[in-house]
Amino acid sequence: MTEFTLIQKYCKDIGSVQAETVISVGDDAAVVNIPSGKEIVVSVDSLVEGVHFFAGTKAQNIAHKLVAVNLSDMAAMGALPKWVTLALTIPKHDNVWLSEFSKGLDRICKQYKVQLIGGDTCQGPLVLSLQVMGIVDKGEALTRSSARVGDDVYVSGNLGDASLALAAIQDKVQLSNNDLQLLRFALDKPTPQVKLGQHLIGLANSCIDISDGLIGDLSHIALQSGVSIKLDVESLPLSEPYTQYLTPEGDLGFALNGGEDYQLAFTAAATQRKKIDKISAKLGIKLTKVGKVLTKSAEMIMLSKNGQVFTLSNNKSYQHFSEN
Ligand code: ADP
Ligand code: MG
Repeated sequence: MTEFTLIQKYCKDIGSVQAETVISVGDDAAVVNIPSGKEIVVSVDSLVEGVHFFAGTKAQNIAHKLVAVNLSDMAAMGALPKWVTLALTIPKHDNVWLSEFSKGLDRICKQYKVQLIGGDTCQGPLVLSLQVMGIVDKGEALTRSSARVGDDVYVSGNLGDASLALAAIQDKVQLSNNDLQLLRFALDKPTPQVKLGQHLIGLANSCIDISDGLIGDLSHIALQSGVSIKLDVESLPLSEPYTQYLTPEGDLGFALNGGEDYQLAFTAAATQRKKIDKISAKLGIKLTKVGKVLTKSAEMIMLSKNGQVFTLSNNKSYQHFSEN
């Protein structure tokens, strides 16, 4: 199969056609119209076999995750995603794999109403790079840098499920088969919080997606906003299987430090509480207040438990919360 036929067969007509698309797959480059009053939001993420997913992972799941992790970045900015481009590096022209990948790609692109408008295809070790482009009202994008002292800190969904599932797959922790099945979903099929991100525009002061772990990602907000954040570890939202794992000897390390949750963490003035509860009810997404933005101190992130505050640099107390 030539590269041309591969593209025609597997990479054309993927996703939902956007009214603003002028030229899609087939020319030297794509052309899109930016609606007036809007800005374009751009991000790219790569998945490398053996690094971001196990060899042998189902092609449909790879496609889902590839798009989901990129859409999560759009969500964190409050953007409406519209277009993606795909750089596909594959070891060989495997029709079964390509067909499954293409199906998975089309499904998630349609689900989130984005269109594949171009890309590149070459031979080599399996690496997938997706660039996503979205739009947002001028000057309205959510950022990491504008958390305000006194803000409440929220997270969406549950924390730690994906990394707990990964640890179980790697035999680092023991879970029942049933629990692992439930948690695997968070790892294999993350749900980017795209609608939530858009609803947070004009309401949240800062926002980030939790791809590298709650503490790490909140420290980005703290650093870039020039504030400190106190996290109440007792309020962390946990799934039923995580809660099972926690008793009697599990720990909160996965919820605090585990990556790949692809939920949103955001800060908002306490006066926005009612509106946030309304959004939660409207979208059917759990939003939990987990902390507070404080004036900048020596510690960017502090953990409070039973009214006692622990700092991250105090290793002894921190180990209590972290992975073994
Ligand atoms: P060029 O040699 O000019 O880079 P290509 O043969 O790589 O052209 O690509 C031809 C067309 O197919 C372009 O419009 C490009 O965007 C598109 N394309 C190539 N690979 C992919 C892909 N994996 N997914 C989507 N579009 C692709
Ligand atoms: Mg090319």
